[in-house]
Amino acid sequence: MANLAPEPEFQQAVNEITVTLEPFLAKHPEYRKALEVVQIPERILQFRVTWEKDDGSLAVNRGYRVQFNSALGPYKGGLRLHPTVNLSILKFLGFEQIFKNALTGLMMGGGKGGSDFDPKGKTDNEIRKFCYAFMQELSRHIGADTDVPAGDIGTGGREIGFMFGAYKKYRNEFVGVLTGKGANWGGSFIRPEATGYGLVYYVTEMLRDLDSTDWKNKRVLISGAGNVAQYAALKVIQLGGIVLSLSDSTGTLLASDPQGFFAADIADIAQIKLERKSLTAFSGAGKYTWHEGKRPWTLVKEADVALPSATQNEVSGEEAKALLKAGVRYIAEGSNMGCTQEAIDVFEDSRKSITSLQETKGICYYAPGKAANCGGVAVSGLEMAQNSQRLKWTPEEVDAKLKEIMINCYNTCRHTAIEYAEGGVVPSLVAGANIAGFVKVANAMKDQGDWW
Ligand code: NDP
Repeated sequence: MANLAPEPEFQQAVNEITVTLEPFLAKHPEYRKALEVVQIPERILQFRVTWEKDDGSLAVNRGYRVQFNSALGPYKGGLRLHPTVNLSILKFLGFEQIFKNALTGLMMGGGKGGSDFDPKGKTDNEIRKFCYAFMQELSRHIGADTDVPAGDIGTGGREIGFMFGAYKKYRNEFVGVLTGKGANWGGSFIRPEATGYGLVYYVTEMLRDLDSTDWKNKRVLISGAGNVAQYAALKVIQLGGIVLSLSDSTGTLLASDPQGFFAADIADIAQIKLERKSLTAFSGAGKYTWHEGKRPWTLVKEADVALPSATQNEVSGEEAKALLKAGVRYIAEGSNMGCTQEAIDVFEDSRKSITSLQETKGICYYAPGKAANCGGVAVSGLEMAQNSQRLKWTPEEVDAKLKEIMINCYNTCRHTAIEYAEGGVVPSLVAGANIAGFVKVANAMKDQGDWW
């Protein structure tokens, strides 16, 4: 009997792929079988994590690893540490990761894992104890050629360090089993920056294509204040854009200064987040206003670009309409599945509504996370390559490769959309990303006998 456990996030991700693949499947019906097969993870691991709090008492959490698809390489995808983590969320993230990894052009399968452990309010000592306990079980199931996890929400450089140390002790091997490692013990330069920088490089291509323009003086709304948001903001500022907002789970910080956020303030915010504090701990000395419990999307009258970079489903249909009304012409997800299906429909309908490239006023060009945020896993792939060779590339080399991967990814999405997707003179990047990623994985699966 089918497993009927409700998995709303996973179902949402499958539905999005299924709908956008339809024009391709209509022309190539044999691939419907592949779509049925690819939705089922190759393996799901679930385990108990017991660890000791500072006061000596016991704490227990649920640990998971979804090893979704290995057609293109070892399972690859982050570890999320957040109290909301459950199998529906990890299956949606793992499913998206399969196609995202395919879009990087590197040889990586898809996976995702994590725990319902909440790093907030924990001491460094407790985080270390949790990471060791988590890795005690996970270390049996991963390996440099099997499954290579990385960071995600709640898992940054500190946690990767603890987990790597634990793996090394339990397995007695120093190998590239995790990415996002410290730069002086096997990590790649530019890995911390990669998702945010890559997002901005992807949007650079969108700006060039739709309006023959660049980031100069573009007003940019960003949500989140973590790894992705911080580095996206810094790159936007470096390229001459104006960052209007950052946010976290408690509210939004809006810039009052016409120059937007200052790089030095983003460095202060990074420190606050390292200490697991709320953005309310940031004193902006009159340069910012605080909007308790609000997301950025409805707070400004005018903006040009929106980069959701906090968590899934963080832009609703109503908020999407507010963004269109404020004149936002570009939206690209730093977060995974940052937009609800209703929001995507608003953006895609605006795209479909025009009949000539001369009349693109009023449209919002939308890029899905699996394409726009693939820079993080791409540099993780480059970290794996460096580890295999026992070599280290310079920051400039890695940044140049990241840029090239993001440009190729954009072109793949665009060209695939032009070839297969229907509707609108501006191509659908969501359809292009889904079709290109799916076809690559499905073909490898067919060659390997996973479907016929
Ligand atoms: P971080 O943990 O560094 O930051 C997450 C940010 O999002 C924090 O500001 C956090 O607020 C906020 N946030 C988390 N959950 C919620 C929520 N339910 N409601 C509102 N705000 C929330 O994570 P990352 O920056 O690494 O990841 C952000 C997104 O980007 C995720 O969707 C992740 O999957 C995706 N991503 C990350 C990659 C990476 O390389 N790190 C790669 C590709 C995608 P607070 O501090 O208050 O908790």
